[in-house]
Amino acid sequence: MRALRLTAWKSEPELVEVPDPTPGPGQVVVRVGGAGACHSDLHLMHDFEAGTVPWHPPFTLGHENAGWVHAVGDGVTHVRVGQPVAVYGPWGCGTCARCRMGVETLCENVLQSPAPGGGGGLGVDGGMADLMLVPDVRHVVPLPDGLEPATAAPLTDAGLTPYHAVRRSWSKLPPGSFAVVIGVGGLGHVAVQILKATTATTVIAVDQRPEALELARRHGADHTVASGEGAAAAIREITRGLGADVVLDCVGADATLALGATVARPLGDLTIVGIGGGSLPVSFFGVPYEVSIQTIYWGSRSELVEVLELGARGLVQPQITTYPLDEAPEAYRKLAAGEVAGRAVVVP
Ligand code: NAD
Ligand code: ZN
Repeated sequence: MRALRLTAWKSEPELVEVPDPTPGPGQVVVRVGGAGACHSDLHLMHDFEAGTVPWHPPFTLGHENAGWVHAVGDGVTHVRVGQPVAVYGPWGCGTCARCRMGVETLCENVLQSPAPGGGGGLGVDGGMADLMLVPDVRHVVPLPDGLEPATAAPLTDAGLTPYHAVRRSWSKLPPGSFAVVIGVGGLGHVAVQILKATTATTVIAVDQRPEALELARRHGADHTVASGEGAAAAIREITRGLGADVVLDCVGADATLALGATVARPLGDLTIVGIGGGSLPVSFFGVPYEVSIQTIYWGSRSELVEVLELGARGLVQPQITTYPLDEAPEAYRKLAAGEVAGRAVVVP
């Protein structure tokens, strides 16, 4: 089969022929119906180096995947061949306290996890290929009726990550509150929809690209603000001087973190989703009183079930552009150039 493989840090991936995977006991092979091109893959190719994360190349890219069950190993009974499924991407040991909660992103059993803190497409072979081996049946989630694999794929990361972030801040988003989403790309345009579908907050979307602000409006943002000089003042005005109860920074650069800290409302949440390499000096008088600053890493198995439900009910609909597998490098090039609206999804 064909697979798009990253063979070294700071290199471009290559499309190569590799043997078809076969499922061992308890395992599932998925015929890939959609593999999202995430900005994290660009960080993997260009910014990561030995020691950034506790796993390393070579591996097949693609960590947001869905498709159809192609083959099952001994003992697999809860899915059948041909069934559409999403792949829960973070793969932990399955037995530590965090994995038992379904939060496999935070697996504490480093030695027994397939890729500590990683998963399919992050240290272990992912879905930018014709077929994908999923090492445990608990990582495949049957798709609810009405959801196609190509649309479901982005929900497993571009949906799951902001869902995890929004869910964590639900108590701070009553009617009358304000939420700011910085960066309306793959994750951000889904974040806007999740906020609208699950809370009564007023959503303010921020981006540097006019097309991204237009995308945000189409997906329900109440206000849009161009990033840069006047952004903080514009957000202050929209929030009547109060600030934003929740800021989701889907960029994570110095400038966006600083903006988030400036516009957060006292007692609010500033949630760092993007891994843009920026940092934020935190001091007593440097951020508004009692703002919680947190990072977010992907999401849990049960949250994936919930976000797929939002997708199946049409409440959250990722905007996708599809590319054949041999054009995956072009999809990444467009993503790097800021030319993707929503999510680029590779359909082998
Ligand atoms: P994307 O390229 O699709 O979208 C990024 C958006 O941010 C674009 O619309 C771009 O115009 C905008 N942007 C960039 N710099 C900006 C700035 N300075 N001010 C305002 N807007 C700016 O990327 P994506 O796939 O949505 O990923 C977003 C970030 O989230 C990446 O850093 C990615 O690695 C990270 N990510 C984190 C997790 C996690 O678990 N925390 C999961 C997935 C992705
Ligand atoms: Zn990702």
